[in-house]
Amino acid sequence: MISLEEALAKILSHTKPAAIVERPLADALGCFIGKGLLATIPLPGFDNSMMDGYAVTAERTRSDLPIPVIGEQPAGPNLGLSMESREAIRIFTGAPMPPGADAVIMQEDVTATPNGIVCKELVEPGENVRRQGSDLCIGQRLLTAGDRLTPGRIGLLASQGLSQVDVHSQPRTAVLSTGDELQQIGEPLRPGQIYNSNGLMLQAQLQRLGVPGATIHHCADTLEDTIRTIDELAAVNDVIILSGGVSVGDHDYIKPALIALGMAPDLWRVRMKPGKPFLYAHRDSPRPVHVFGLPGNPVSAYVTFTLLVRPALLKLMGANEAALKPKSIPVRLNEALDARGDRPHFFRGEISEDGTFSTRGLQRSDALFALSRANALVRVDPDHPWAAGDLAPAILLDT
Ligand code: AMP
Ligand code: MG
Repeated sequence: MISLEEALAKILSHTKPAAIVERPLADALGCFIGKGLLATIPLPGFDNSMMDGYAVTAERTRSDLPIPVIGEQPAGPNLGLSMESREAIRIFTGAPMPPGADAVIMQEDVTATPNGIVCKELVEPGENVRRQGSDLCIGQRLLTAGDRLTPGRIGLLASQGLSQVDVHSQPRTAVLSTGDELQQIGEPLRPGQIYNSNGLMLQAQLQRLGVPGATIHHCADTLEDTIRTIDELAAVNDVIILSGGVSVGDHDYIKPALIALGMAPDLWRVRMKPGKPFLYAHRDSPRPVHVFGLPGNPVSAYVTFTLLVRPALLKLMGANEAALKPKSIPVRLNEALDARGDRPHFFRGEISEDGTFSTRGLQRSDALFALSRANALVRVDPDHPWAAGDLAPAILLDT
């Protein structure tokens, strides 16, 4: 058995960011940037009005005399209007500032008269004007390699007129469920059968992570079928995430199958609860393939995906180092938590609105209903039980 930290370090030592490809910006949400990007267009692109109102000189708003309005500049093409310091131009939000004006007075702050506008308030020079480059200058760094494309960042790149972006390609991923007891969803259950819930659960975890299009497969508990299925999947995928068949039972064929395929596991059995039987194998040629063998018990599969598969996938997807760690926040514990045994125990539970954590349901590796009610994991090490009221880090799930 190896520690969780050692297991993760070993897996990450074999994973490298995928090739950089050009992708339409419209189809790049969630992808990781391949190369740093610098601004070529300032934000704002030109001095413009922050309000609907009148372009004026601040000085002129100090006088009680009406200010004649000599033209109108809406948002859109620059009409090339210019004004004297004692004049005003009607202007709207986002419209270019006319030369000669140094401020905008809001329309609510003036009274319109036949001779011009009379100001009810004063404005300072620069007031209600958005200066060119005040948000972003030409040459300023937009994004660093390894940053993830969020909706806000997509907006930023769109503001630069980019229609294509260099990102790391997404891993082709297969989810393989093993076990003669598994029935396909939609078919009637016969005695002794259970539905293959891991298939869709792991596919959903992948989707949540930003890996779309994972395919779902099944193989029977025979060495022959296991070898054939993994061989087929390894020919067309970068990552295989399988569940079940990784323990030491007479019907657990994953290890011998991987050995037969020249992919002897790099590690097997991790000191963690749930999830001990986890294994990882890989091959570098003819094409890199990574195989994650998750225990069949649904909670073990879920937790090992979160702690061991997720960081590796993020690294393959091109994420920067800091993004590989699961998101964690401090929570106040509503109950004492004790690992009892020799492995770190990841308790499943819920962080309430008030920021406190309570375990939810059975803490058993098959307890899928209990898992479904959890939104966080709290790690408890054997030599470090938590007392009720302690502040402990909680790993946020499904982020
Ligand atoms: P195994 O790791 O193959 O020994 O399976 C451990 C437990 O997980 C058994 O109770 C299996 O029936 C269950 N299990 C295995 N695969 C799945 C699956 N795809 N969906 C739901 N439960 C499963
Ligand atoms: Mg099995």
